[in-house]
Amino acid sequence: MALLEIEQIYTAYDRVDVLEDVSIKVETGQITCILGANGAGKSTLMRSIAGLHSQKTGEIIWGETNIAALSADQIVRLGLTLIPEGRQVFTELTVEENIALGAYATDPLTAPELEQLYQLFPALRGLKHRKAGSLSGGEQQMLAFARGLAARPTLLMLDEPSLGLAPVIVEQLFERMSDLKQQGLTLLLVDQMAGLAMSLADQVHLLQSGQLKFNGTPQSLLDSGLLEQSYLHEHETSTASPSI
Ligand code: ATP
Repeated sequence: MALLEIEQIYTAYDRVDVLEDVSIKVETGQITCILGANGAGKSTLMRSIAGLHSQKTGEIIWGETNIAALSADQIVRLGLTLIPEGRQVFTELTVEENIALGAYATDPLTAPELEQLYQLFPALRGLKHRKAGSLSGGEQQMLAFARGLAARPTLLMLDEPSLGLAPVIVEQLFERMSDLKQQGLTLLLVDQMAGLAMSLADQVHLLQSGQLKFNGTPQSLLDSGLLEQSYLHEHETSTASPSI
């Protein structure tokens, strides 16, 4: 049985339709990746799953429960955590305060749990008393990652974690994702670094103008030629291009 099943999701912003009849499955222990050009609807899908976008219809099945109508904090408590696009750390709070806030919806983080997070992101240990706003983009992304894990997710959703980061930092981020998969965590990833994302993913879904164009393995997506076609299609209205 899939860990998460999204069935026939439709979303809108006011009267503008964004997602149309999108259905995807996320299998336990896998990395599932959603690809698509700028404006394809990837963030809207992630936000819809996380309970942050209310203008939607369809079902989001978690275990055997439809969670589509639940609030964002109820969804976090069930074990689904979104690390949002743009990191959104609390700039005036310290690194450690930010991490602690990740557990706001559940029990406070224990010392061994905090230690585990510092082992995963060693650079954060030396920065723990620094205000998050003074960190570099890469450090802030690591912090957002650690804060997401502090919620003790069963499913970790990452929206564009590599956006604007140096290649060496992006590599480290993808290594952490791979480590977490090895530890049994299920991940749902949106990223413009299509080549890197596909090297990590078990399953890939391709969104184009709010519709699902493909789902399957990364290799079958590459073989299909649909990825390039999709980004070229969106290129007429944006400057997006995949990094393959
Ligand atoms: P990106 O890679 O640029 O983040 P995306 O695939 O994540 O793109 P979304 O951010 O989900 O796409 O946007 C999908 C569509 O919804 C776009 O046409 C966008 O302009 C529109 N949209 C997104 N947020 C809003 C909003 N708050 N109000 C109105 N329209 C929005």
